[in-house]
Amino acid sequence: MGDLTGKTALVTGASRGIGRAIARRLAADGALVAVHYGSNEAAAKETVDGILAAGGRAFALQAELGVEGDVDGLVHALEDGLREHTGQAPRLDILVNNAAINAAGGPIETESPERFERLFAVNVRAPFFLVQRVLPLLRDGGRIINISSAVTRIALPETIAYSMTKGALDVLGHTLAKHLGPRNITVNTVAPATVDTDANAFWLRGNPETQELVAADTALGRVGLPDDIAAPVAFLASDDARWITGQVVHATGGCRL
Ligand code: NDP
Repeated sequence: MGDLTGKTALVTGASRGIGRAIARRLAADGALVAVHYGSNEAAAKETVDGILAAGGRAFALQAELGVEGDVDGLVHALEDGLREHTGQAPRLDILVNNAAINAAGGPIETESPERFERLFAVNVRAPFFLVQRVLPLLRDGGRIINISSAVTRIALPETIAYSMTKGALDVLGHTLAKHLGPRNITVNTVAPATVDTDANAFWLRGNPETQELVAADTALGRVGLPDDIAAPVAFLASDDARWITGQVVHATGGCRL
């Protein structure tokens, strides 16, 4: 386990799924974690309570992403929370852009401009402007980690617009890494394949057939779990990853190699 004692972290979309696992792991490694959520207050509370019960430090903050003023609201809540929990001027060490949507889409023939814009507003515009807004808070030597997807490598025509949002995130990471190198801030991307979260519950949970299909497509022979993604994120956040920047880590168990 890395030592993040004394560090602060913001994980977007940390109320459930992969974000929750990342928040728990960073807190277990010693960081004070800001657990961001959109609307599921009870789930965010569960994440925070779990961290506190395990002896870690965390607080929840709400902000709907993809709407006017989203990033302003999030950053104000972050600053307030950090001030309250550290007793100092707000400073951030680790930003994990994890929150995203992938509402059932379709191929290019059936995609709508409204859905396309919503996907880009939540998955691309929000993380882009969140980085812009937290840069003054981010300490030199800090970490930015974006959660992308294996769909930037594996062509899935039925989720074309979602896949494009993740492609944009990969370019954001690569380009920011060069820009922020002089401040010793690393920027990396973690790309999962299928992970057992609420986002996939409708076709995966309680369905041995689809689970077997995913496992058969995966070198390591099973469906991914949120902790499988939290582990490489924690590594990239740690001092051990200080010489790694501008990279995409495919944490997929070897999906469709
Ligand atoms: P979940 O759907 O399980 O959780 C999504 C999280 O993001 C929740 O905390 C949710 O908050 C928050 N969120 C979603 N939309 C908004 C919004 N508009 N404003 C604010 N918060 C929002 O997602 P996963 O854990 O499955 O996915 C996490 C990341 O991993 C995403 O970037 C996803 O694209 C990526 N990924 C996931 C894969 C998978 O198989 N699960 C595969 C590849 C990539 P709330 O609880 O309040 O709704």
